[in-house]
Order: sequence, then structure tokens, then C-alpha cells
Amino acid sequence: MSPLVRDWETIARGVMGPLRLPRNPIAMGRFGLRAMRSARGFANAGCDRARAGVVCGHCGALGYAAGVQGSAAAGLMLQIAGHAVGWPLPRGGAQSITDAMVSYLESLGGEVVTGVRVESLEELPGVGVALLDVGARQLASIAGDAQSWRLFRYGPGVFKMDWALEGPIPWSALDCSFAGTVHVGGTLEEIAAAEAAVWRGEHPERPFVLVAQPSMFDDTRAPQLRHVAWAYCHVPNGSDFDMTERIENQIERFAPGFRERILARSVMKTSDIEDYNANYVGGDIAGGANTLRQLFARPVSAFSPYRTPIEGVYLCSASTPPGAGVHGMCGYWAALDALKWLRTH
Ligand SMILES: Cc1cc2nc3c(=O)[nH]c(=O)nc-3n(C[C@H](O)[C@H](O)[C@H](O)COP(=O)(O)OP(=O)(O)OC[C@H]3O[C@@H](n4cnc5c(N)ncnc54)[C@H](O)[C@@H]3O)c2cc1C
Repeated sequence: MSPLVRDWETIARGVMGPLRLPRNPIAMGRFGLRAMRSARGFANAGCDRARAGVVCGHCGALGYAAGVQGSAAAGLMLQIAGHAVGWPLPRGGAQSITDAMVSYLESLGGEVVTGVRVESLEELPGVGVALLDVGARQLASIAGDAQSWRLFRYGPGVFKMDWALEGPIPWSALDCSFAGTVHVGGTLEEIAAAEAAVWRGEHPERPFVLVAQPSMFDDTRAPQLRHVAWAYCHVPNGSDFDMTERIENQIERFAPGFRERILARSVMKTSDIEDYNANYVGGDIAGGANTLRQLFARPVSAFSPYRTPIEGVYLCSASTPPGAGVHGMCGYWAALDALKWLRTH
């Protein structure tokens, strides 16, 4: 990882946006040669201990099929970020990020209106420019133009669980207690098989499970001595299969005694995930399938992925480059495009 971690700033600038000519071709070439491989091919080049837990886990977490060309890219990116700057957890939970952004917007004179579902562009009268933070499919219905998005594909959905726990998760491997996120899946072969099954439309007996344990690091999340954790695994898009037992079995396998610590649980199938946020079509929390084509051309073209065929209307969600994640870069690039348009209109 060392040369890639050294080049983190350059790689982040080059990758966290639309397809462009690289400013530093050597650093980007070093990253690109690895990123264009399949996650499985890339993992196989690593040492035994790194193969499953680090490489394939990261790719699987993002819903990539491990055998697909280019599936190493996002996992590798997450891994470099993990080494270079870490994976932070917001104190107080993700809501605190929203609260901070809203308070900044309001300090600039902006206003946030919630509780309104926008069904059509006509509900947004008198706006010079509109940036829509919606998925490619909703854009088609809101803007009444299905043509441009017909090639867009959604990826697997997620089955999500939240637990209130009597104590921390009793991992057999002590190191896991010091990680905010634990990727639970066993060997590379097991993880790859589980994710491939999902892409075939099946529900794996031993799913690849991403577990977060924020209360280990943030005492605002649970009462004293108690803990919370949440997890998800991939399931076929739109699935209504209940993965509760399989997820808990998988955690119990690596943390014997986990079940005895559960005080309460909540589960969300893909339909609950979509009800919670209309952008998560069929439970896909990544804003679209992470295929090689959609890595760059999400959802329309590689050269202007934010501009829609409708004058002054921009897409700024995770359905655009650089894709899912709490990085804000989809909005950043869409805003730059919109500013350019505003200057000439
Ligand atoms: C369980 C889970 C865990 C995750 N973990 C991580 C993580 O650890 N790290 C990370 O970086 N990312 C994580 N993500 C992904 C990350 O949250 C998303 O990629 C990111 O929030 C996408 O941002 P966005 O701006 O595209 O849209 P969103 O954050 O989804 O915001 C879109 C908003 O628009 C609203 N909306 C949709 N349609 C309409 C409409 N028609 N009218 C009005 N409002 C509408 C939605 O309700 C929503 O509030 C996770 C996601 C989930 C679900």
C-alpha cells in the first residue's frame, strides 16, 4: 500500500469526480493499473492475511462482484483512505453531519424545507437552476424524460439490522474490538462466493456482513456499559427475504456469545430501505450498480454526468460520479457545472 498511500492526495483528486485527463499520470497510472483489475485478481496478488479481510471485504462492502473487471477500484480507494486518513465516525451519529451542514447553509441565508416529496419539476417554480439529489430512476419520473436513463442499472439491495446490546460484541479476534467497522465473511473465497450468489439472484447461507460498532468509540450512542451495533448484507435487488438468522449466525461464528448480548433488534428489508429513502431503489444504497461503465458514466455520459437534457436541471446524487459515500463530491461537481451555466444565462 505504501506508494499508493504516499500519493493519496493526488489519487483522491483524480478519482473523486468525473473522468478527466490525470494531472499526475505516474501516480494515477500506479493506481489505475491496480484499480482496473477484478477485486479477486487483485486480492490474489496479496499475502494470505490481507486477501480476504482487507481487499475483497472492501469491494464487497460496496456491492461489487469480486470477479468483475474494475471491481478493485472503489475497494482500493477506501483502503488507501483508511491508511492515509482513517475512517471517521461522526460523534452523535450521521445526523450530526446533516445538522452541521444545515446550520452552515442557514448562516448563509439558505432555507431547508422538509417533509415534501417532489413529484414533478413544475413544483419548483421560479428557480433559475435546480440540483436534484435523487436517483437516476426518480429523475426520469420527476423530469418526465425516461430516454437518457434507460441504460442505467441498479445493483444489489441491502438487508439491514440494528441491535441494542448488553455489552460489546465478543469478537474472538481481539483486534476487531478496536475497529469501527468489521467486515465479517471468512476467507476471500467465501466472501466472493456470497457476493456472486447475490448477483445471481440468490440469498447466501453465509452472507458477507458489514458490521459497525460506533458505541465502542462514541459514548453518546448508548447508555453507560450498553452498546449498539448495526450491520447489513447484500441481497438481490427488491428481495423480501428475511436474513436475520443468517446475519446473526455469521456474527456468532466469529463472536461466540453475541446472541446472548442482544437486548433488542430492528430489521429493514429492501422495501423498508426504499420507503426510508426513495433514492435506494430496490434497497440499492449505492445509487446504481457499480459496473465498469457506470464507474464513470453515471448515469448519462462520461463527459457531463451531472447535466441533464433539461436546461438548468442537474443531478447531484450518488447516481453521479464518484458514486456513493459521505464525501459530498457529487454535489461539488454538479454545483461547478451549474455555476458555469448560470454565468452564461
Ligand atoms: C445503512 C447505510 C450505511 C452506509 N454507510 C456508509 C459509510 O459508512 N460511509 C459512507 O461514506 N457512506 C455510507 N453510506 C452511503 C451514503 O449514506 C450515501 O452514499 C450518501 O448519503 C448518498 O448521498 P446523496 O446525496 O446521493 O443522497 P441521500 O443522502 O440519500 O439524500 C437524498 C435525500 O433526498 C430525499 N429525496 C429523494 N427523493 C425525493 C423526492 N422526490 N422529493 C424530495 N426529497 C427526496 C431523500 O429522502 C434523502 O433525504 C451508507 C448508506 C446506508 C443506507
